[in-house]
Amino acid sequence: DISLHAIDAEIAIAIDAEGKRQEDHIELIASENYCSPAVMAAQGSNLTNKYAEGYPNKRYYGGCEHVDVIEQIAIDRAKALFGADYANVQPHSGSNANAAVYLALLEAGDTVLGMSLAHGGHLTHGASVSFSGKTYNAVHYGITDDGLINYDEVARLAREHKPKMIIAGFSAYSQVMDWQKFREIADEVGAYLMVDMAHVAGLVAAGVYPNPVQIADVTTTTTHKTLRGPRSGLILARANEEIEKKLNSAVFPGTQGGPLMHAIAAKAVCFKEAMSPEFKEYQQQVVKNAKAMADTIIARGYDVVSGGTENHLMLISLIKQGITGKEADKWLGDAHITVNKNSVPNDPKSPFVTSGIRLGTPAVTTRGFKEAECVELAGWVCDILDAKGDEKVIGEVRTKVSEVCQRLPVYQKSKTKELF
Ligand code: PLP
Repeated sequence: DISLHAIDAEIAIAIDAEGKRQEDHIELIASENYCSPAVMAAQGSNLTNKYAEGYPNKRYYGGCEHVDVIEQIAIDRAKALFGADYANVQPHSGSNANAAVYLALLEAGDTVLGMSLAHGGHLTHGASVSFSGKTYNAVHYGITDDGLINYDEVARLAREHKPKMIIAGFSAYSQVMDWQKFREIADEVGAYLMVDMAHVAGLVAAGVYPNPVQIADVTTTTTHKTLRGPRSGLILARANEEIEKKLNSAVFPGTQGGPLMHAIAAKAVCFKEAMSPEFKEYQQQVVKNAKAMADTIIARGYDVVSGGTENHLMLISLIKQGITGKEADKWLGDAHITVNKNSVPNDPKSPFVTSGIRLGTPAVTTRGFKEAECVELAGWVCDILDAKGDEKVIGEVRTKVSEVCQRLPVYQKSKTKELF
C-alpha cells in the first residue's frame, strides 16, 4: 500500500482534518479561496521531481523538453489573460515576486514609497520587519480618516522624498485604486511604478476591476487569492526590453534557484480557467456578494471603513462598539466563521489586538453563495457582535453555518464540475 495514509498516517489524518475544516467552516478571509481539483492535480504531479533552472529553451539541466512546453504555455496564457507584454511565471510566492522587482529596479538604500502596513499595504511594501524595509529606505502613504487614499498627499510625499519606485496595491483596501493617478505621480518625480495587484488579480482578469498592467512599469501578483489558482506568484510588465532582462535575472538567479514546475503547471491551469465566461460571472458575483454583506452590516449599525466596498473585501471598524478585532475573530471562529483581525483608521489598539476585522467574499462565492446567503451570513456576524460573543448566540449561528456548509459544499463531486 503506497497511499499517504499507509505511509504517513499522522500527516494524512491532519490533511483530512483540514479538508473537513474547509468544508465545515465559512471562509471569510479575503486572501483565501478554494482552487479547482484540476489546479491541485497539476500541483500534486510528477513535475515536483524536475530541476529546470533557467528559462524555456535556455536551461541549465537536461530533460527539460516537457517542462519547457508547460512554462511557455503558462507565460503565453498569463500575457493573454492580463494584456501583458512580459510574464515571469517562476516566482514561488507574492513576496518572492516583489523581492525580484526590488532587486531588478533598485539599489540597496534607494527610497521607495508604498502603502503602510497599518493602513492596508503589504509587508513587502516597505514594512520595517520585511526585506523591503530593511534593505531600502521606505516611506509610506496611508488612508485618511474617511478610509480613502488622498492622492494629493501621495504626490506631496513623492515630491518630498523623491522615491526611485512607488508601490501601488494593497492587502486591505476596499475601494478602486486609481492606477493612473499613481502613474502621473511616478512620472512627475521620475520613479518607477510597481503595482502589486495580488488581492484583485481575479477581478482584473475578469474585467471587473481596472487593469494596471499597461499603466505600471511592472505588475506583480499572487495567484491564490481572487485568481483562485495555486499558492504562488507572478510578474507581468508592459513592453520594455531593458526591464524584462533585469526582471528575468532578478528572479533567476537573483532570488531563486530551480522553478517549481508543478506550481507553474498549476498556474497555467488557473490562467486557462480564468479565461472562461464562468470565471467572469464568478468575479462579478464576488463583488455583488461583498456589496450585499457591506450593506447589511452598515444597516445593522456597524462602521464599514470607507463607507462600503467596490471590490471583494471590507473592513469593519468596531471602535464605536468597544469590541476588539481579537475578540471578534475569536467569537466568529467559535461559530465556524473564519475572519482575520485588522487595524482600522485611528485604531486605539495595537496590531496584535486591533479594533477591526477584514471580511472577503472570494471563498464563499466559489462554494456557491449568492446575495441571499451573504445577507444572511452578514446578519449572523452582526448577531454575534451584538451579543458580544454570548455562547448561546454563537451556538445558534454555528448550527446555521453547518446547515449552509452542507447545502453548498466546496468539493463535492457533483458540484465540482459546476463550480470549476
Ligand atoms: N502582496 C499583497 C498585496 C498581498 O496581500 C500578499 C499576501 O498577503 C502578498 C503580496 C504576499 O504573497 P505571499 O504570501 O504569497 O508571499
